[in-house]
Amino acid sequence: MPYPLAEVLSVTEKLWPVAGAEGWDAPGLVTGSPDQQVSSIHLVVDAVAESLDEAVAAGADLVIAHHPLLLRGVTSVAETQYKGAAVATLIRAGVALLSAHTNADVVADGTSAVFARKLGLESLRPIVPGAADGTGIGRVGTLAKATTLGRLARQVAELLPPTAGGVRVAGSYELPVREIALCGGAGDAYLAEPAVRAADVYITSDLRHHPASEAREQHLRGAGPALIDVSHWASEWLWLETAADQLRGALPEASVTVSELRTDPWDFAVVQ
Ligand SMILES: [Zn+2]
Repeated sequence: MPYPLAEVLSVTEKLWPVAGAEGWDAPGLVTGSPDQQVSSIHLVVDAVAESLDEAVAAGADLVIAHHPLLLRGVTSVAETQYKGAAVATLIRAGVALLSAHTNADVVADGTSAVFARKLGLESLRPIVPGAADGTGIGRVGTLAKATTLGRLARQVAELLPPTAGGVRVAGSYELPVREIALCGGAGDAYLAEPAVRAADVYITSDLRHHPASEAREQHLRGAGPALIDVSHWASEWLWLETAADQLRGALPEASVTVSELRTDPWDFAVVQ
């Protein structure tokens, strides 16, 4: 039996309260009407043409995307641009689109918490605590048993879906590591946080040359973590299955699926 979209929205608001989002973010409903009926929900990281086409072909009534399709102001949804084409595709097919972004990062079962638990980290706490207990940006935790930076990087590579960029590391392969900070998605803004500085290694995505180089120099002076840089998409894709299970629990009549498409923007790499 289908659910009115309004009822699905009340579930998503409980799971990922919009009040938890960063000020610059734009989570929420992008297309669709609260009155329309939802029996099939498809989860994706990115609302790109391929994943939206997949959702429409599968007969989904609602797409939940982690990344907002319309984050900054737009003045046109003409189909000459991909965002306009995406909006038109969804509206023509009667498919609603909702994004749960930083509001889904900070909750107790958010992107970083899921990543951290899958790595086996214990005693989890946020890098930057949120308003409510157990919430906040990123996670810091401890491995039950120390490992080496190289072995941890291999474990990360096996856990994440494969991408062209793979897993890049700054630090010595044999470095002993036990205290791990991580932030799913782009986390270079938190490199200076005390919880990150105190960790043996910081796992995140989209590390640019200068922040990474400066952090590596600090690490070599014994005053900061080694770095593991992973695909932004892959680090957040892990969360989709947890989100799907939560939705299945709250909306047992709905079919909830997770996209297996790789929407990391890099198609291939040439290894030198
Ligand atoms: Zn992201």
